Amino acid sequence: MACDFIALASPGVQKLSPYQPGKPIEELERELGISDIIKLASNENPLGCSPRVFTAIDSGLSELALYPDGNGFILKQALSDFYHRPIAEITLGNGSNDILELIGRAFLQPGDEAIYAQHSFAVYPLVVQAVGATGITVPARNWGHDLPAMAKAVTEKTRVIFIANPNNPTGTWVEKDELDLFLKSVPENVLVVLDEAYGEYVDVDDFPDGLEYLARHPNVIVSRTFSKAYGLAGLRVGYAFAHPDITNVLNRVRQPFNVNALALRAAVAALQDQDFVARSRALNTAGMRQITEGVQALGLSVIPSRGNFLCVHLKRAGLPVYEALLRQGVIVRPVTNYGMPEYLRITIGTPDENNRFLSALKAVL
Ligand SMILES: *Cc1c(COP(=O)(O)O)cnc(C)c1O
Repeated sequence: MACDFIALASPGVQKLSPYQPGKPIEELERELGISDIIKLASNENPLGCSPRVFTAIDSGLSELALYPDGNGFILKQALSDFYHRPIAEITLGNGSNDILELIGRAFLQPGDEAIYAQHSFAVYPLVVQAVGATGITVPARNWGHDLPAMAKAVTEKTRVIFIANPNNPTGTWVEKDELDLFLKSVPENVLVVLDEAYGEYVDVDDFPDGLEYLARHPNVIVSRTFSKAYGLAGLRVGYAFAHPDITNVLNRVRQPFNVNALALRAAVAALQDQDFVARSRALNTAGMRQITEGVQALGLSVIPSRGNFLCVHLKRAGLPVYEALLRQGVIVRPVTNYGMPEYLRITIGTPDENNRFLSALKAVL
């Protein structure tokens, strides 16, 4: 019999179950032999990305034999100009998932605690467990973060608190005043990660902007990504703003070339096309209304969301509905693993895709 290799893994890793991504279109094509499939399962941008990205990538193709700039200077400079923050506060990641990993690797060890909310992003517990630290899940309030309860959960052992704003998969958000109070009550030696992966989709003015907290609260790390509104999920680029000393620490555990050469160029071009971001946001706001109204017309409800996705309450088990939708060529996301067995998460698509989803849902129910 072979050696028990699982038992050789570190204790945290032995207990991990891998992240479950949305089903790829090609996989469903292979399984069912159908075509004309739409995927509303991974919060990808239905408009694709800015056409400027293609030009930027073209111009990088002749340099594929060279290592990328390990410091990502062109992108850091572009982010620094755009946000008016110093380069010394910026960390680049292979997606913002990489940023979350760097935080875990640099600041958490066995015996430490990290706090996150029930129904919050599945990557937080993965990052925490992988390094053998202890994850503390604080029960949600109305599907979202209960910040007063999260502040109360802080102990001597707490090193990191993760807050997704808006949250994935629920789409819930925290308001400025609650976040202000929360940050005032958290000790300065506890890092607070504000994960703003969907920040560009928020279409209300009075929404907390993580960057505005950095001066008052040097323990805040703001994490953002090019995967969602910028439509570059396939290239993997994310970034963080944090105090220069935190940035220095993250830089020590970073792979030397963690963002590839094409991704660096593409992200700079994407950042410069804010019209594309505005179009994406407008399409999303309209699609959110379309799906909300369509779902309500079927007698179902949704959890109000500020992301580019929506959780629909089916009032029955979600998995069979998910599977029936697959047979209609519509891929959405089950959220049973998030403790939401009666819900499905739908990414907002184009008006046509949203209609396809609504007709498929109607047929299935
Ligand atoms: C999608 C997502 C991310 C990061 O995705 P990357 O592609 O790794 O940048 C981070 N946080 C939340 C809450 C997300 O939904």
